[in-house]
Amino acid sequence: GVRVRIAPSPTGEPHVGTAYIALFNYLFAKKHGGEFILRIEDTDATRSTPEFETKVLDALKWCGLKWSEGPDIGGPYGPYRQSDRKDIYRPFVEKIVDAGHGFRCFCTPERLEKMREAQRAAGLPPKYDGHCLNLTAEEVSTRVAAGEPHVVRMKIPTEGSCKFHDGVYGDVEIPWDAVDMQVLLKADGMPTYHMANVVDDHLMKITHVARGEEWLASVPKHILIYLYLGLEPPQFMHLSLMRNADKSKLSKRKNPTSISYYTALGYIPEALMNFLGLFFIQIAEGEELLTMDELTEKFDPENLSKAGAIFDIQKLDWLNGRWIREKLSEEEFQHRVLTWAMENSRLKEGLKLSQSRISKLGELPDLTGFLFKSELNLDPSAFAKIKSTPEELLEILNTVQPDLEKILEWNVETIEAELRAIADRMGKKLKVVVAPLFVAVSGSSRSLPLFDSMAILGRSVVRQRLKLAAQ
Ligand code: ATP
Ligand code: GLU
Repeated sequence: GVRVRIAPSPTGEPHVGTAYIALFNYLFAKKHGGEFILRIEDTDATRSTPEFETKVLDALKWCGLKWSEGPDIGGPYGPYRQSDRKDIYRPFVEKIVDAGHGFRCFCTPERLEKMREAQRAAGLPPKYDGHCLNLTAEEVSTRVAAGEPHVVRMKIPTEGSCKFHDGVYGDVEIPWDAVDMQVLLKADGMPTYHMANVVDDHLMKITHVARGEEWLASVPKHILIYLYLGLEPPQFMHLSLMRNADKSKLSKRKNPTSISYYTALGYIPEALMNFLGLFFIQIAEGEELLTMDELTEKFDPENLSKAGAIFDIQKLDWLNGRWIREKLSEEEFQHRVLTWAMENSRLKEGLKLSQSRISKLGELPDLTGFLFKSELNLDPSAFAKIKSTPEELLEILNTVQPDLEKILEWNVETIEAELRAIADRMGKKLKVVVAPLFVAVSGSSRSLPLFDSMAILGRSVVRQRLKLAAQ
């Protein structure tokens, strides 16, 4: 039977792109009566964290995309987290090396960087130059025995091209010349994404691989690994990426890309799925409002466009409004509102911070409203009250934005520490840096404490508010 997967890397805030690819796979499985499974791809130990893993699972659950096997629920082909599968990959890599399809590479990071620099200077794409291809067997065993750090790379044919069929792109041909001698096993003994992905798709009996188009160029490597291992590759489908209105790849600078942003603003998950699902079906105007079952019924993976899915947030808003008005019962609506208000402890934390600041309960909406609003009415006079010049205000807002992205775990302590560091670097007092942020985040000059407010709102909402304030 059909078995598909979503294979997120827990290296950042869960991305709407992940929900988009996951929805495709989910619908594909439902359409064919198959299985949709979840696998965590955390071979990049420096960027993966357990917090992001929890977040990605929670985000996909919120979307209503239920998997039948995964790291949280197990299944017959587990474990479903690549860092727990380290020992599984080694024999596969050894098989490739023993058959002469892979080689050990002792090049130091410094040498590789010099090589890439020279390639950049010559206007060539970065590609391993084959330096370690011709080491003798004796030399290799001596260096391995001496404990010299090394990786395993795959060999690539020197001529011809890789031809394969893609469910979206049709027949594709990529010259081998354009394919790098990919590292399969890193110096620390972890496989790379490419190696782990092939082994896992094989062992987890994946029949169709549907993922973002940015992986199309990697298919030759994957097909070669399957070939070297004597395995049958799955069928591939590379989905067009979602784009900003200007056709550039969806980026958080132009559109909120974090699922948590849509959760925080009170989008209805069914509406978000409805919106993303429309990229996979052909329907007439007036038929846009669709439940998951209706999406499944109309889903047509044979008829996908390469054109690129434009992420039109106004259309999402329109669909979300229709879901609220037309699809939710009165009880369901009330239930959703209450659940939303409780999310991220927004209500509880907001009340906790308010208690010492009010004399009547009726002051609460004004004081805490900014924690719930999808759009702030920025009070222009609030900025005017700050002592800095307009240029200084803008400088602060623009300096703070990229630096806040560096915070790993978003909470009151880390936010405060980062803002103090930013103030130091700018040679300004903390209160000077904080003043414009306070207005940008809360909309007024009198509100709840900034660091707490930022923590409650979440990074993606704060990002959007700072961006708007700097405009
Ligand atoms: P960055 O902004 O740092 O380039 P990114 O936006 O590409 O990162 P990733 O963390 O690389 O985000 O991607 C997370 C997941 O979301 C990947 O599975 C990727 O395929 C998917 N994804 C990212 N951008 C898009 C997009 N524009 N359309 C569809 N899927 C996307
Ligand atoms: N871990 C990869 C990603 O996050 C998955 C790519 C694939 O589906 O093969 O995009």
